[in-house]
Amino acid sequence: MTEYNRLSAGERRSKAAEVEARLEGFREEKLDLDMTRGKPGSDQLELSNGLLAAVDAKGWKTPSGVDSRNYGGLDGIEESRKLFGDYLGIAASEVIVGGNSSLALMHDTIAQLMTHGSSTLAKPWWGSNPAFLCPVPGYDRHFTILERYGIRMVSVATRESGPDMDEVERLAAADPTIRGLWCVPRYSNPTGYTFSDETVERLACMKTAAPDFRILWDDAYAVHHLGSGPAKLASILAACRKAGNPERPLIFGSTSKISFPGGGVAFSGGSEKSCAWARERLFVQTIGPDKVNILRHVLYFKDIAGILAHMEKHARILQPKFAAVDRILTRELSGTGIATWTRPQGGYFTSLDTSDGLASTAVKLAAGLGVKVTPAGSTFPHKKDPRDRNIRIAPTFPGLAALEKATEVLAVCIQRAALAGS
Ligand code: PLP
Repeated sequence: MTEYNRLSAGERRSKAAEVEARLEGFREEKLDLDMTRGKPGSDQLELSNGLLAAVDAKGWKTPSGVDSRNYGGLDGIEESRKLFGDYLGIAASEVIVGGNSSLALMHDTIAQLMTHGSSTLAKPWWGSNPAFLCPVPGYDRHFTILERYGIRMVSVATRESGPDMDEVERLAAADPTIRGLWCVPRYSNPTGYTFSDETVERLACMKTAAPDFRILWDDAYAVHHLGSGPAKLASILAACRKAGNPERPLIFGSTSKISFPGGGVAFSGGSEKSCAWARERLFVQTIGPDKVNILRHVLYFKDIAGILAHMEKHARILQPKFAAVDRILTRELSGTGIATWTRPQGGYFTSLDTSDGLASTAVKLAAGLGVKVTPAGSTFPHKKDPRDRNIRIAPTFPGLAALEKATEVLAVCIQRAALAGS
């Protein structure tokens, strides 16, 4: 395909007419397609139905003999700490299991920091004009939590190896109001990138002007591979411990996209001191998590090998969807010079960048044709993409045919946005 900026005026006009005709065709189809949120499809949910029968009227005792039906076990059952410690690559003693949403745990963590301060500085962040470094494009819900608590967001560019570390180091060292960094280190939302060993090392060792700088390490997609296997990610906890900053990382994960979103199990991790700090809050909040559901997960998956085998089944469903998105984007946009996109080896999203200024027009055009895409700007703090170019594509939920159509419509809308005025 010819680059759009090399088209002659006549070629642009005929291309615009061709695109207009395709849009008209889509209009006549009266589409109603949704590519907004990264939800598992119902065929993926089917994979975990066995969980529902994993605990019954006779099987409520945990392997170590705890009655899962009763109060207690603030940080989950013993076997679950081992299972999800293996998931996060940390020791069972560094894990707390409980709740059904890692996002809720992250929200609570920020709230706790604001009202009570951290495990190393018991001084509320509230009133100190705190700020967080936010690699962009990033996960909209992380930004929404910071927004709610009035925490300033300082955007940092994302590279294939992770956040721009020169920038992260410069900002963290210079400004004591910068209290942390939020990240999705593996198969990131939305780029699919995984942090390099060097990035992990630099995050662990960097000098920070804030004495209690925290990295919120959202390992939501640790085992969610599409390619040859889970991406290797160096242990942030080990690196921070070695660098003398053991309290720096606060680690999160859940089985939302392994078993059932909302019906899964969430967990967090960190140094033993960080875990004790989290337990203090939990003790006030609850008398114990849903141990029946935690037990279900332990009995069903058994060990990390069980989780990895289960994730192979998810991958078999998801691979063709991600491949379809890439195939259609390549067919419609490659060589045009108006869009680039990621080819993730895992996770739940493809990140697409248009030429500057086209994303919101394209997303609006697609919505007008019955194709819902995450609103442009969502992947940036305050939902404002300064270059108006990033679009997050969520291929998992729609069926393959619907996904192919939705991707085609979006790609043609990007072409239309680029040809506006021709
Ligand atoms: N973290 C990331 C990076 C996500 O993409 C999502 C969901 O899309 C979540 C967390 C939500 O996880 P949970 O269901 O455990 O709250």
